[in-house]
Amino acid sequence: MRPSFGILGGSGFYEIKGLKEVETLEISTPFGPPSAPVVTGLLSGKPVAFISRHGNGHQFLASEIRYRANIYALKSLGVDRLVSISAFQSLRSDFEPGHLVIPDQLLDFTTTRSRTFFGEGFVARINAAVPFCTHLSTEVYQASIQTETMVHLGGTLLTVDGPRTATIAESDLYRAWGVSAMNTTTCPEAFLAREAEMCYAVLGHVIRYDLQNPAHQKNTPGMTMSSILEQNHNTVCETLKSLAANLPENPECQHQTALSGVIQTPVKDIPPQTLSRLEPLIHKYTSQ
Ligand SMILES: [Zn+2]
Repeated sequence: MRPSFGILGGSGFYEIKGLKEVETLEISTPFGPPSAPVVTGLLSGKPVAFISRHGNGHQFLASEIRYRANIYALKSLGVDRLVSISAFQSLRSDFEPGHLVIPDQLLDFTTTRSRTFFGEGFVARINAAVPFCTHLSTEVYQASIQTETMVHLGGTLLTVDGPRTATIAESDLYRAWGVSAMNTTTCPEAFLAREAEMCYAVLGHVIRYDLQNPAHQKNTPGMTMSSILEQNHNTVCETLKSLAANLPENPECQHQTALSGVIQTPVKDIPPQTLSRLEPLIHKYTSQ
């Protein structure tokens, strides 16, 4: 059954509570295996597909995650809407640990990752000016506010390679630039999802303030990292349940035709092996 939407889980989010009729799929892709087997099941009666992006045992550093294989595997199952769950480090006093954040802009400071499916005889340049799907983000927001958790809609997210923390100078710089939160995985994921013509939204859960700002530490009395992660996991699962129950079945969104008009290589000039490799992503533009 084609999933209503796909879910990528991050730190502290390795399973979906309430998932019924669970199946596990081993999927191979031209970009290797996904970070973990794809888990499918019914959430609020709707089919969904889930991958734990760090692996089920959290064995992949953010820069080691199989970003392309994860997106490709979900695309091959028919996923055209993808909700990315991610742990955030907050750079704003009002984005507190335990809050949810649905960002609307993105800064890419990663340098070590494969960031496109394309190349090897196939050229297309997707429009990434608005990196997240406004429609899907709004649906995720509507679902998240049912949880009675504080939710922030909007904000600029910065993705860095990690795994180290930011330096004090870096944090100060990011704040001066207006960055709201940091993480280590949304780039290149957001851009690969756009290449795969998926609507993509991030549901971030704040796990801590940036460590270099002592003024922020006093705002989280009595909360350990594990208690914040557990609370956030519960909140995100409730959000996903509500989203599954209420997400419209057949949305029309420009992101699901993101390659229309931006493919620069004539079909006759694309090498057969590249056509074959990219088939799930580009077949509607290359099949006669
Ligand atoms: Zn969209």
